[in-house]
Amino acid sequence: MKCDRGGVQSVTVIVTTEDSPATIPPQLQEAVRRTFGYASLRPLQAEAMNAALAGRDALVVLATGAGKSLCYQGPALVRPGLTVVVSPLISLMKDQADGLIGNGVAAAMLTSAQQSGERRSVRERLAERDLRILFVAPERLLMEGFFEELLEAGLSSLVIDEAHCISHWGHDFRPEYRQIGELRRRYPHIPVQAYTATATPAVREDIARELSLKDPLLLVGSFDRPNLTYRFQPRGDLLSQVLGVIRRHPDQAGIVYCLRRKDVDELAAQLAAEGVRALPYHAGMGAELRKTNQERFLQERIEVIVATVAFGMGIDRSDVRYVVHASLPKGIEQYSQESGRAGRDGLEAECVMLYSAADYHGWKNLMTRSAEEAAAAGGTTVSSELDASLARLSQMLFFAGGAVCRHKFLVEHFGGSLEQRADGCGACDVCLGEMRPIDDPKIVAQKILSCVVRCEQRYGAAQIADVLRGANTERVRRAGHDQLSTYGLLRQHDAREIRHWIDQLLGMEHLRVTDGQYPTLFLSQSGVEVMRGERAVALYALPKLTKAAKSRTSAAALAGLSADADATKLVLFERLRALRRRLAQEKGVPPYLIFNDRTLAELAERRPKNAEEFLRIRGVGDRKVQELGECFLAEIAAAE
Ligand code: ADP
Ligand code: ZN
Repeated sequence: MKCDRGGVQSVTVIVTTEDSPATIPPQLQEAVRRTFGYASLRPLQAEAMNAALAGRDALVVLATGAGKSLCYQGPALVRPGLTVVVSPLISLMKDQADGLIGNGVAAAMLTSAQQSGERRSVRERLAERDLRILFVAPERLLMEGFFEELLEAGLSSLVIDEAHCISHWGHDFRPEYRQIGELRRRYPHIPVQAYTATATPAVREDIARELSLKDPLLLVGSFDRPNLTYRFQPRGDLLSQVLGVIRRHPDQAGIVYCLRRKDVDELAAQLAAEGVRALPYHAGMGAELRKTNQERFLQERIEVIVATVAFGMGIDRSDVRYVVHASLPKGIEQYSQESGRAGRDGLEAECVMLYSAADYHGWKNLMTRSAEEAAAAGGTTVSSELDASLARLSQMLFFAGGAVCRHKFLVEHFGGSLEQRADGCGACDVCLGEMRPIDDPKIVAQKILSCVVRCEQRYGAAQIADVLRGANTERVRRAGHDQLSTYGLLRQHDAREIRHWIDQLLGMEHLRVTDGQYPTLFLSQSGVEVMRGERAVALYALPKLTKAAKSRTSAAALAGLSADADATKLVLFERLRALRRRLAQEKGVPPYLIFNDRTLAELAERRPKNAEEFLRIRGVGDRKVQELGECFLAEIAAAE
């Protein structure tokens, strides 16, 4: 069935995890090699580029780090006319434009942050048809007469980056994105390609409909990020847990997400006091300081940024080696996007979530309050939105508390499927066997659940844990809970362990909590069945926090230099990193725009002696050899 406004009924779905079988025209292949230094393509890049060259509408859904940029940048190099890329954030555009300029491509951006002189010169270049790629914000695209100016300048293709911003269902809804559809309908002859990393089927449909995509090619890549190792752990002593992660990644970049601004400030200060080069980032900080801190992170002058979720979109540092969540994120989409900022360069990275079921209530209260405020202000009922938010939150808790392979769960959540070896993915706490099942989960669960019942389902987790461990507290005595048959039933365990099991029972929804200021535990139907011994249950011990995780990996090892690489290679790698930092500072660009770690590792390994050999290194294009070849070749020669 075809749908006039371009519904998703008419799209072709290609899902592949294999190396791309499709080929691209030789001219494009050559341009990609010379400009970006890539000799091969990643999955679906060829299909996306071919669609772009054919002028076909497309919706491309590829995981973070899968290489979406090349899909539209490649064709823009060889196709006549101008490619305009709509992007939601200035920092995102700047990185992309700077990267392209660094590779010798005629690219520019047009944003409100530029000086008027700068803007004028971009418009002059536009008029002279001197640009191949232009980045703009949606607001700019919608300005009266601007689209006509672009048509005049030879516009041949429109790319919508971060296209999920168009959807209400997405997590970054931007009203201006909606209006792009209007332009599309006015000028239907300009092909549109939409790109996004996180798109559930509902979001996908929304994008196709809102942009009125015509018979679009839908390309959906695998959502799996095999280079990420996921670990979910109950939060205990936050500082030492976070330090544990940081110390596994010495001198490497990491992001720590906190829920509240206050938590950000506190943790950043504590880490700094421990000698970690960490800075805070949140929306309450003042634009200047925020910008400085972000830049220091991007310029590799600090390793760790502690932030609220305000930090993220537009952070293109591709060598982030770990992302820590200091509390439960709002939903699985958010989790996937935030944790996905690790390892964009394709090298190994770690995502650690430290959570507690208490986070669920924190969020729930926040969401309920803001829904009430919105309702009071607008007079509209938003209860369905609130329900949807709470459902997403429950899913997140379920995910965290569950014991299904993290990779598998995430992929399936986004509608994909993941073939697995019998021994699992090898990159999550579940498959790595770091979640140690306890010996008698059934009995422990029964003790906890019956204690909840004995306490008349009128108490919270703290009290239940106290009763079970036989604590002699005022609250326990006053309630007469020291007289219960369940008092002291888990005497040999401490409160943290018991809370951990309660969290797991909540995650599996055998236990639930009431609404309100003092949330109390009660049994679900499945909880009743577990208590009666009619349903199986698994419970896990507290993870051994640092020992279970892999030992330290140096940047060099991660970048592919083998563990037994001789010392001179490692020394050279570090020298090249230092050179990169110096050059980046001189040029005022972030170091990863010069070369990424993988390219540096290959340089250290293969030690090119001349420009020709230099060009054979992955990630090195013509322009980079011209501009940087001499410096890097000299450094390599000096290290002989
Ligand atoms: P996305 O936008 O999908 O998150 P990017 O376009 O930023 O991902 O690409 C992620 C990384 O992969 C970048 O460092 C990019 O240079 C690299 N990359 C993209 N395509 C290729 C390729 N065909 N071969 C090697 N590296 C690639
Ligand atoms: Zn796994």
